[in-house]
Amino acid sequence: MNVNWLTLHFADPEQEREFQGDYIRRFGGMMRIAIASGVLLYALFGFLDYQLYPQQAHAIWLWRYGMAMPVLLLVAYYLFRRDERAYSQPVIAIGSLVGGLGIVGMTTAIPPEAQDVYFAGLMLAAMFTYTVFRLQFIWATSVSWVVLVTYNVASLLSGSATPAELLTANFFYVSANLMGMVACYEMEYDARYNFVLQRELEAEQQRLDQLNRRLDELAHHDHLTRLANRRYFFEHFQQEWNRHLRHAAPLSLVIIDVDDFKAYNDTYGHQAGDDCLRHIAETLADTARRAGDFVARLGGEEFVALLARTDAEDACRLAEKLRWQVEKMAVPHSASRVADVVTISAGAATTIPAQEHRLEDLLRRADEALYEAKAAGRNRVICRNDAPPSPR
Ligand code: GH3
Ligand code: MG
Ligand code: MG
Repeated sequence: MNVNWLTLHFADPEQEREFQGDYIRRFGGMMRIAIASGVLLYALFGFLDYQLYPQQAHAIWLWRYGMAMPVLLLVAYYLFRRDERAYSQPVIAIGSLVGGLGIVGMTTAIPPEAQDVYFAGLMLAAMFTYTVFRLQFIWATSVSWVVLVTYNVASLLSGSATPAELLTANFFYVSANLMGMVACYEMEYDARYNFVLQRELEAEQQRLDQLNRRLDELAHHDHLTRLANRRYFFEHFQQEWNRHLRHAAPLSLVIIDVDDFKAYNDTYGHQAGDDCLRHIAETLADTARRAGDFVARLGGEEFVALLARTDAEDACRLAEKLRWQVEKMAVPHSASRVADVVTISAGAATTIPAQEHRLEDLLRRADEALYEAKAAGRNRVICRNDAPPSPR
């Protein structure tokens, strides 16, 4: 993890910005609870001020309610706003600082023998600063040491503690600060480490998703033409068959075979043959493009178009359009027996799926129609229909 060892900030400013945003999202709720309880405690201790030192209560309250409280309330207001709270860290730091300095102020307003009571308040403030508020290390440390130093200076100036008492107090106060620093450092380091792990996990997940999509694409599509492959076609065919069975709707199939394609390969080469197949695939897909149309490469120079909710008449019309569009591509084919350009033959069949029918029957009938088209001279379409015209 590439962080500055002292500030714990990420070396990359963009990453640091993202982390800060993430930190507020993750710990924003906790910060609100912390500041709300901090403010409540701070206010309630005013009751004790009066119980313990009724004479000095006014001076103490000036520090507590006059100075610290308004700032703490502003901090709470900032944290509880709905808008973005990008400055949560400096704002809470200011609240912590003012809260701590307020207690230091109170120690100067009470009799010297009562120092211990308010000193406990300073320890509590340090705890809030280092852990409860979720302040980050550099803020918490700066705030706490400023309060610590101010406490020492104020005690010396006001003479509220003898040097020996101050030394004892510091023994605890400095130790508490050092412990707080360690805890705060570890907490922030963990938060940053988790952030990095989480981001890596997300990136890995994205890569996996991409790979999965690619695998899916490879498993379902033909690499030469990018059309659906034979396996995908049969999966889809089965699904459509079942769907049409439920709705008793006409389902049509057009099987397409390129005419004299062996001769094309022999004349122009295998590479040109591949280009030609790609070109044909594109034309077929562009022509059969209604929502329910599904074009696939069955293998070799054989294609298929499955037409959902399409009756025989429409299927036959589309098959003829496919044939015509391929002829119109005008790809020269000097070795063809039927034309001087590349052509296709097609067999179309339509059925309304029923329990007693099998999907293979539709396939077989389309194949027979194709065979007939070949026998009848190629570059033509033969249509078979055993389904009554669909009601319109
Ligand atoms: P017909 O009009 O009766 O269909 O004659 P045909 O020559 O097209 O039929 P045949 O089945 O004899 O030959 C098909 C040819 O298609 C044989 C093969 O070289 C070619 N072919 C099959 N798959 C590919 C392919 O992926 N790329 C190329 N370039 N050629 C292919
Ligand atoms: Mg063939
Ligand atoms: Mg052929």
